[in-house]
Amino acid sequence: MTVARAAVLRARGEPLVIEEVELDEPRPFEVLVAMASVGVCRTDTHALGEFPPPVILGHEGAGTVVAVGQSVTKVRPGDAVLTTFATCGRCRRCLLGQVTYCDHFNELNFSGRRPDGSTAVRSRTGPVSAHFLGQSCFATHAVVGERSVVVVPEGAGADLRPLGPFGCGFQTGAGAVLNSLRAGVDSSIAVLGVGAVGLAAVAAAAVAGCAPILAVDTAPERLTTASELGATGVIDARRTDLAAGLRAVVPGGLDYAVDTTGIADVVRSAVGALSSRGTCAIVGAGASDELVLDWRTVLNGRTVTGVIGGGGVPDVFLPELLALHRRGRFPVDRLVEYFGFDDVNEAIAASVTGKVVKPVLVFD
Ligand SMILES: [Zn+2]
Ligand SMILES: [Zn+2]
Repeated sequence: MTVARAAVLRARGEPLVIEEVELDEPRPFEVLVAMASVGVCRTDTHALGEFPPPVILGHEGAGTVVAVGQSVTKVRPGDAVLTTFATCGRCRRCLLGQVTYCDHFNELNFSGRRPDGSTAVRSRTGPVSAHFLGQSCFATHAVVGERSVVVVPEGAGADLRPLGPFGCGFQTGAGAVLNSLRAGVDSSIAVLGVGAVGLAAVAAAAVAGCAPILAVDTAPERLTTASELGATGVIDARRTDLAAGLRAVVPGGLDYAVDTTGIADVVRSAVGALSSRGTCAIVGAGASDELVLDWRTVLNGRTVTGVIGGGGVPDVFLPELLALHRRGRFPVDRLVEYFGFDDVNEAIAASVTGKVVKPVLVFD
């Protein structure tokens, strides 16, 4: 049993409460990780108002392995790891290497329980839901499945603090471009919405050699950041009609678009601005239940596809992203602003208001 300090959601929509909890010893295929940092992601802020409490959220962790279950071979105590979403490893999608589309993704990541219905976390009031996106690392320690840890390679940098968000936000944006769209040199791309996920997509498009790379947002400072990360042009959607703006830059139509806004009108404009064989990747759902597209906009060979978690295999893709980061080609650490763990509610507020692109909690 390990005593941890955790930020617990006690009532929907209320601030998190930092309290002591007890964690189980890791089961045979589980790992106990002492967290160094954890990013705050929109999936956390959505869950604040929806997930049945009590629950520990947090799913962009970086830390050090403290203990391993008896059957774990992937890591040893002392290893630096990133933590990421859970997948079963046995279904057809997992066996095909399409793990973000695991048949059991929802129950493994959003039930708050292990597959057998148990939780590794207890508080003075009883069991606490955890295992959120395979992690629940708004806490000093987390018990995670072996498949949810990715070893940070030697030389990736001794400072784990900026690396937490690689396990969700950064791999989601970069993976959409590099794994799912497989955008190539001189292909044209627009990234719609340049928060943390969109900015990671912009940086990845620059790595892939895309041109032009258009960043679209309503916040001028984020468009400036997008330019610094490799966008060759920006469109302020408050001032410019989006469809016309995209057409003006790429009259023949875009090869690719990545939507991070979840706004149906934005997706519709982006799909309309694609070339006849272009593809629009949607990385998250928005507020509306429906996305309505004209027959003509998709019949002409266009593709609209959803992408979960960047569509890659974290054990393969995260080390690649860390290598790019180390070489200065994926400089997403400049999006990060640090908060002490005790300021978790301020960090969440900074994410919700958009004041900070990527708040990261650090533990000391
Ligand atoms: Zn699976
Ligand atoms: Zn996330």
